[in-house]
Amino acid sequence: MLGLMQSRNLSISSLLTHAARHHGGAQVISRTHENTTHRHSWADVERRSRQLANVLARLGVVAGDRVGTLAWNGYRHLEVYYAAPGMGAICHTINPRLHPDDIGYIVNHAQDKVLFVDLSFVPLIGAIAEAAKAHVRDVVLLCAPEAMPEVALTPSMRLHCYDTLLDAAGEDFAWPEFDENTASALCYTSGTTGRPKGVLYSHRSTVIHAYAVALPDVLDMRATTRVLPVVPMFHVNAWGIPYAAALTGATLVLPGRHLDGPSMTGLFNEERVTLSCGVPTVWLGVLQHLRSSGARLDTVKRIMTGGSAAPPVLIDAFRDEYDVRVEHGWGMTELSPVGTYNAPKPAQTGLTGPEATRQMLRQGRVLPGIDMKIVDADDNALPWDGKAFGDLKVRGPWVASAYYGDEPGSALDAGGWFATGDVATIDPDGFMEITDRSKDVIKSGGEWISSIALENIAVSHPDVAEAAVIAARHPKWDERPLLLVVARAGHTVVTESVLQMFEGKVAKWWLPDAVLVVPELPHTATGKIQKTTLRDKYRDHYLE
Ligand code: AMP
Repeated sequence: MLGLMQSRNLSISSLLTHAARHHGGAQVISRTHENTTHRHSWADVERRSRQLANVLARLGVVAGDRVGTLAWNGYRHLEVYYAAPGMGAICHTINPRLHPDDIGYIVNHAQDKVLFVDLSFVPLIGAIAEAAKAHVRDVVLLCAPEAMPEVALTPSMRLHCYDTLLDAAGEDFAWPEFDENTASALCYTSGTTGRPKGVLYSHRSTVIHAYAVALPDVLDMRATTRVLPVVPMFHVNAWGIPYAAALTGATLVLPGRHLDGPSMTGLFNEERVTLSCGVPTVWLGVLQHLRSSGARLDTVKRIMTGGSAAPPVLIDAFRDEYDVRVEHGWGMTELSPVGTYNAPKPAQTGLTGPEATRQMLRQGRVLPGIDMKIVDADDNALPWDGKAFGDLKVRGPWVASAYYGDEPGSALDAGGWFATGDVATIDPDGFMEITDRSKDVIKSGGEWISSIALENIAVSHPDVAEAAVIAARHPKWDERPLLLVVARAGHTVVTESVLQMFEGKVAKWWLPDAVLVVPELPHTATGKIQKTTLRDKYRDHYLE
């Protein structure tokens, strides 16, 4: 027997109309390309998104078409975020930090019809125009008419100014209703091997994910929250914050292109931000600025860190020196992206000092709706004892089932689980801890060593700015850990003193066999340490 409740489709436009109707005056504040502050409200975003839907229709965009964006976090980008899916098209966010060849490939693979481009990426659009001309008909620059630059496009492409198009468009547009499983957004993962792969979100997955990230034990978002996503809207939907902010009526502060410590600290204090989210590199930059300038964070209470493992120094320094709680989450493009969040259960509430830090290094408990398990090489489930580590698998309504262009379900195993490629432990309370990417784990004499655990210890050394541990080939043990460190500005690293940090913290056989001090470490387009490059370079270090 079926239930007798209404079956209204979940839709992204309903998040926006809710925000406009019930939190119409709540602000959306943006740092612009020119470094000025633009303010409007959720009611303005909704009205302007209707105008933009009319613009898209005029440009020939129809339901199912892909609308690409190359843009920072800003109000015009937010309007594309809502207008494209709201009218039934797909908002395809493109990561501008990828190599232009990859960007050209992605635009063609997605068959983007229109591209919305920030002024920062004008040279980039010139560079990929030839490669993208097969599908792209219109390029819209996200700026005012007086800021329009010269752009070298191909003769088949038309160039437009966003503000001019919007000013000429009517506001009369009714958000259509359609199946909640309709595709809404597309984001390519910047895989470390092979070409990027597209993850295609739906209205249903996006709305359910927004509800989940807003929960008290996740981002705890409400109408009084003033949230600043540092995590870019061009990668993993800015962790769902543009949607969760509309859902809750929160004030949304969009930082634009300057993400350095001084710019972020200034914006946090000027706009009285209470919550922010970003990768560890951003927080290390903010920390460095606070320490060197003596500045304080006046209103920020919590910052969420994710995307790569949180270094303990971040948790300690923000708590002890600035009274800011650093919270740790985990996710991936294929999970919309948030999968777990570290919020205490009653047993964890009393922890203080190093115990509290140790607890916060875990990536956390699953958001309700997500199922997880860890398995061994034969796919047998491993115990949740906090010790056994195995491949992490997940399933749930906001987990991808296939990559764009592939057969539905093709990214899943026979039981419907998605293999994350991460290696993890899960403790009896359900707190998951990533020990490695499966490609990065070090296999020494048949036993596994966690590179992340070693990196966390290395970066707690006062002279170390950044650290990476990789598996280097070894004649006897197959692989042994090799530690690469970058010195903090003005400091010198003594390798013996770094090795002393490990004493008593890990088993003796986990100790790196060597420490190399390097001027810098390579990073991927999403700010993660590029271990493939390091492995290529240093793989034979112990054989040479
Ligand atoms: P992406 O799809 O680019 O967001 O990358 C997802 C991957 O980033 C995950 O599979 C993890 O390997 C890594 N990752 C994300 N969050 C964390 C975290 N909190 N700690 C460690 N690794 C993380």
